[in-house]
Amino acid sequence: MNQLKKMAFAERRTMLLLVLFACLSGVVIVFQAYYFVKIVDLVFLKNASFGVIEHPLWILLALLFARVLFMYAARRTGIRLASKVKGDIRRLLFVKYAKNPIQASLSGQTGRKVSTAMDAVDEIDSYFSSYIPQIIQTAIVPVLILLAVFTQPAFSGLLMLITAPFIPIFMAIIGIKTQKKAENQMEKMAAFSGHFLDTLQGLTTLKLFGRARQQRETIRKSSFDFRDATMEVLKIAFISSLTLEFISTLSIGLIAFELCLRLVVFKNISFFSAFFILILAPDFYLSLKDLGNAFHSGRGSKGAFQKVADELAQEERSILWGTVHLLKDSSPPALEIQDLTFTYDEGDFAIKNLNVTIPPYEKIAIVGPNGSGKTTLLHIIAGLLEPTAGVIRVNNKSRTEYEEESWFNQISYISQNPYLFSGTIAENICLGGDPQASMKDVELAAQKAGLSKMIQSLEHGIDTTIGEAGRGLSGGEKQRVALARAFLKQPSLILFDEPTTGLDLYTEQILQASMCELSKKSTVITVAHRLYTIQDADQILFLKNGRLVAAGRHDDLIERVTEYRNMVHVQQGGGVK
Ligand code: ADP
Ligand code: MG
Repeated sequence: MNQLKKMAFAERRTMLLLVLFACLSGVVIVFQAYYFVKIVDLVFLKNASFGVIEHPLWILLALLFARVLFMYAARRTGIRLASKVKGDIRRLLFVKYAKNPIQASLSGQTGRKVSTAMDAVDEIDSYFSSYIPQIIQTAIVPVLILLAVFTQPAFSGLLMLITAPFIPIFMAIIGIKTQKKAENQMEKMAAFSGHFLDTLQGLTTLKLFGRARQQRETIRKSSFDFRDATMEVLKIAFISSLTLEFISTLSIGLIAFELCLRLVVFKNISFFSAFFILILAPDFYLSLKDLGNAFHSGRGSKGAFQKVADELAQEERSILWGTVHLLKDSSPPALEIQDLTFTYDEGDFAIKNLNVTIPPYEKIAIVGPNGSGKTTLLHIIAGLLEPTAGVIRVNNKSRTEYEEESWFNQISYISQNPYLFSGTIAENICLGGDPQASMKDVELAAQKAGLSKMIQSLEHGIDTTIGEAGRGLSGGEKQRVALARAFLKQPSLILFDEPTTGLDLYTEQILQASMCELSKKSTVITVAHRLYTIQDADQILFLKNGRLVAAGRHDDLIERVTEYRNMVHVQQGGGVK
């Protein structure tokens, strides 16, 4: 049994409801035909008066209502099932993306992920909202109709039995053909939306570099590809509808022919029986045909589900956390990195055999050329990436023994481009900090981070809403919000990836003062680009190509390590004292 079916059958109650509604529908269809035929028989052949048929008429009306009602109920149950399952799948995806945010956001386009989470999951909808209910319906209703037909003295039941299988057979043939096409279409869609979103996000950059026109061509092409793939799927869907229609019409014709012969030539059937069978026949094929149509959406859903399953199955290097020890917040931890080795899943960059000891309260600067692995090292120390080999010891115990939350509660990570979510400035500062922090604490943190002046200039002050990714704030202001977070959180370990691009002078000063203040209560590890940080550090880690070339104080390294001297010279335009 495939995974989608398993998911459906996991919802036992819903499935039982669907079966119940299908049974009721089947019974209602049979009785509806019965009463309809009975009324016609009474009126036209037996010349009955209205008084006689009044009662059956009411029953027929009630049955009509019941039929609509059960159809509606089955439909609703299907939709409820679909939204429940979709919710579950989305949650799985989000948990998956959230578990390993660094790896996830680094590999693959964001747009593709959004497309998987939103569109592919939506495509799964029809599997549960129409395919599954229809399967149940088709498994039950035709059987009941067939039983009713067999009670009548004719071969029509046999004819139905013989012709019915042609519909699923044709459906299967066409279905197998569409599956590939549907998968193809999903892929085109994903490529298209991924490209579209990523292009939109990078539009400014693209424009600056005069590449917008070229990108427009790419978008044009992938949208046309998508259109063609969609048309292919639709083409087959239409042809198959036609085929199904044809088969069922032919079969009904066959039955009508048999009944006609019996009624007119052999005269061995009553009008009542013949008419009863003729009324039921279309309903019999209808539910088979409906299955055929549902089959298509079901197939499409399978294609989409494959996408989701692939995404969920994608290997992740999850971080192992223990439950044994809690990191207390009394004082900064003693860190020891032993024989650290790390490689990404892709590419051949590696950090090799890195050994560093970081005593509490030290100020560490990580320096090195672009791409030497500084940010990677910081991510590893932060616990965002899992070492391939080696251990990180925290207070003489392997970090894997600590409980995850207690670790992250003790650190602040300020990235080169801090992420702000849409919400008020206050909410953004509170992120990750003590949930019980008072407004006063938040304001104090903002003040320490040099945000007071900016906040005062805003109409709603600290409650001003800023956009997703901090839209509306300058790079320097975003850095200061991130600093305010650290002030509020008062972590014992601060990891800071200094922005490479020039900050405004004011932010630069704030940064300097803030780091000075924060470092009084915590260990600070900085990927350093500014001379001040470098000179101020207790220990400088000089990285090159993932290797620790040298470690020591600035003066010491300048004297000892030629490469370091050269690098600082180049970086600072030769202005090092
Ligand atoms: P730095 O911060 O020193 O400039 P990084 O740590 O960002 O350097 O990157 C070090 C190397 O690792 C670079 O060669 C980069 O291309 C590579 N790298 C960074 N992130 C990934 C990733 N997610 N997958 C594969 N390679 C990566
Ligand atoms: Mg970097």
